[in-house]
Amino acid sequence: MIYLDYNASAPLHEAAYEAMQPFLGERSANASSLHRLGREARDAVEQAREYVGALMGAGSPENVFFTSGGTESDVWALRGVFEQKSNTERNSLLVSTVEHPAVLDTAAYLSKHGVDVQYIEVDSTGCLYRLPVTKKTRLVSVMAANNETGNLYNLKSMALWAQREGALIHTDAVQALGKIPVNVNQWGVDFCSVSAHKIGGPQGVGALYVHPDTSIGPLITGGGQERGHRSGTLNVAGIVGFGAVAKAIAGKIDERSRRMAALRDRLESQILTALKTVHVLGDLEHRLPNTTLLTVPGIKGEAIVLEMDAVGVAISTGAACSSGSGEPSSVLTAMRLANPKIQGAIRFSVGVENTEEEMDQAANAFIQCVERLLTVAGQIENV
Ligand code: PLP
Repeated sequence: MIYLDYNASAPLHEAAYEAMQPFLGERSANASSLHRLGREARDAVEQAREYVGALMGAGSPENVFFTSGGTESDVWALRGVFEQKSNTERNSLLVSTVEHPAVLDTAAYLSKHGVDVQYIEVDSTGCLYRLPVTKKTRLVSVMAANNETGNLYNLKSMALWAQREGALIHTDAVQALGKIPVNVNQWGVDFCSVSAHKIGGPQGVGALYVHPDTSIGPLITGGGQERGHRSGTLNVAGIVGFGAVAKAIAGKIDERSRRMAALRDRLESQILTALKTVHVLGDLEHRLPNTTLLTVPGIKGEAIVLEMDAVGVAISTGAACSSGSGEPSSVLTAMRLANPKIQGAIRFSVGVENTEEEMDQAANAFIQCVERLLTVAGQIENV
């Protein structure tokens, strides 16, 4: 199988697999226990916190709190801010219309509970129009990189805009981590969500960076783990795996980025040269190095995914989380694209482990598959 669906989930990195083994077996213990095994588990978690914090540019590891994944981190940032002491002067949440459902659905939830939710519109390439922050804005949430188009957003300037009006800013950097440099301190954000499985860590682990001067209420209450910020017995093996992959890729982001871009460009250029009806969606100047979102108007993305799967290439129709739901992509809908473009969207997302041969084979398979499907569609139209 040629795996080109890294934005959905990256295969488990060898370093993560190896580091996790003892904690799934003889060294598994509760990181809150006082005995030796418990203390060792706690030490391993703290070591992982350092590695993950360093990969995010978090300053002190104490600013990093482990969660069950990117979704929980996003939900926690939004609800954690608005469910603390109410602030009637600042009761507005500003989110972009291309956020992940973890943010958009939480915004809808908060709106039902009295929060004034404002949306930042995007143009047809997914670029933000403007950031309408006001003195009423309590929190801005804009992602660092979009999971479908791969579009990158300028966090540094958005953080400045937000702070100028006294608002807090959260970013979902789930897709950015490991693909482009992530530095929460340089960006100047208050909260940042990341997820282990998008960088080769295990599924079901994530983290939220919280700026030390910012307070946030807990989402999950209980035994008081994570210094009272996030209760629940720690997923030691998962956290250790997250830490191991963070350590393994730290210092290599630029090199990884260049390799991914070279692979993606090789794949993309072969497809675009052969298929004149295929277009790339999104902001071509500012996008993740590993992502290309193509559209084949007139053909259903699902049909292409299934045909490609049959010949051993794993790709996606767009957001893996919403594909299969039958719903059109909310990101492409927000970009106000015509329906055939939305229906025909196909996402390739490559990883550093992919090879040039795989790009050539995948491009070839895609070209043949699309030509076949276009011929069939043409025949049906003529009947
Ligand atoms: N945010 C973005 C941008 C994502 O792409 C995803 C997953 O696809 C998530 C959040 C959710 O992360 P997780 O799968 O760890 O819950």
